[in-house]
Amino acid sequence: MKKNIAILGSTGSIGTQALEVISSNPDLFEVEILTAQSNADLLIAQAVKYKPNTVVIGDESLYDKVNLALDPLDIKVYCGPKALASVVENENIHIVLTALVGYAGLIPTVNAIKAGKHIALANKETLVVAGEIITKLAIENKVDILPVDSEHSAIFQCLVGEYVNPIEKIILTASGGPFRGKTKDFLQTVKKEQALKHPNWDMGAKITIDSATLMNKGLEVIEAKWLFDVKPEQIDVVVHPQSIVHSLVQFEDGSIKAQLGLPDMKLPIQYALGFPKRIKSDFPRFDFINYPNLTFEKPDLDTFKNLSFAYEALRKGGNMACIINAANEIAVDAFLKDKISFLEISDLIAHCMVKSSFIKSPSLEDYIASDSETRAVALQKISTGFLT
Ligand code: NAD
Ligand code: MG
Repeated sequence: MKKNIAILGSTGSIGTQALEVISSNPDLFEVEILTAQSNADLLIAQAVKYKPNTVVIGDESLYDKVNLALDPLDIKVYCGPKALASVVENENIHIVLTALVGYAGLIPTVNAIKAGKHIALANKETLVVAGEIITKLAIENKVDILPVDSEHSAIFQCLVGEYVNPIEKIILTASGGPFRGKTKDFLQTVKKEQALKHPNWDMGAKITIDSATLMNKGLEVIEAKWLFDVKPEQIDVVVHPQSIVHSLVQFEDGSIKAQLGLPDMKLPIQYALGFPKRIKSDFPRFDFINYPNLTFEKPDLDTFKNLSFAYEALRKGGNMACIINAANEIAVDAFLKDKISFLEISDLIAHCMVKSSFIKSPSLEDYIASDSETRAVALQKISTGFLT
């Protein structure tokens, strides 16, 4: 039977690669829903090609354009965040691929799980903000959360068949980003153009900046905690600049399993959509002879503070990770608009960790309020400047 897929964020880096995977496997997958925030032209082109049942454009001012273009094709068109949050409940969907960026993924993911849809999770921010609630809901509703993030897909693949064997340690690999080995002095003046040049991966702007600050690895530490039910001290990060070893699991006998491959997100996307089956592919194959030196080093937590913030958030618990995520989303946006400097991204997060209200056992409503509060605290700090 074909799997019907809803892709939230179909016009982005993950979304477009997911559509390539689906195009290559028309006998396995059907596109049921496509959504995008503002790239109406690409959304229309995708809808014409894949003929989904429904599309949602986030930016309401673009509704007429999309609706007019798709009217002759008998495709339902909706707009705005409320529509995005409810289309995932459509009875024909089997898997929701959360390929949208940031906190905006939270409510659609909650609704999809409640409606019994399996989640192919690229949107790591959702687990960072409310991992406890999401994982509990997934168990209650008997849905799988299938990781798309390459590191978590690697760990997930290493765990297949190991259900009686506890994890001793997870080792997440990090490329180190474009500023690996750089000093604080150097980072003082770096501009977005430098930060946007990732050495190994071609991704959306937000995750590319997160990779440059090591926030991405911090978010992934938190994501790993919730996906694999481990303690923070069971998660190590090692810098591996070639991005070939995608991550590793150490078991209680000391044995380590790793998953390797060229850096290509189509593989983890396809693994999540096809799970438990591995689908035959023509992706380029990795050859050890071309990579005689796979290297590993310690992350520099003094220079790249965001990774330590993530561990701190896990130790504190409650809504601290939600605070970090909201502060980071505001900080990255401000950096991309040249309003704050690269190092001020960490300063802003540190500020919000102190100033936003801490809640020990948050409900979903508390997370929503905490996200809003932290955004306001961060914006206020940006407007008053960092010397005050
Ligand atoms: P992207 O910026 O390329 O695409 C984001 C998509 O989300 C677009 O389709 C956009 O229209 C939509 N979107 C943006 N803001 C939205 C909003 N407020 N409401 C609804 N939709 C919105 O991002 P990406 O690189 O594809 O990343 C998507 C997610 O996958 C992120 O959470 C990222 O951390 C994660 N991820 C990405 C990669 C990668 O290689 N790109 C790897 C691992 C994990
Ligand atoms: Mg990753």
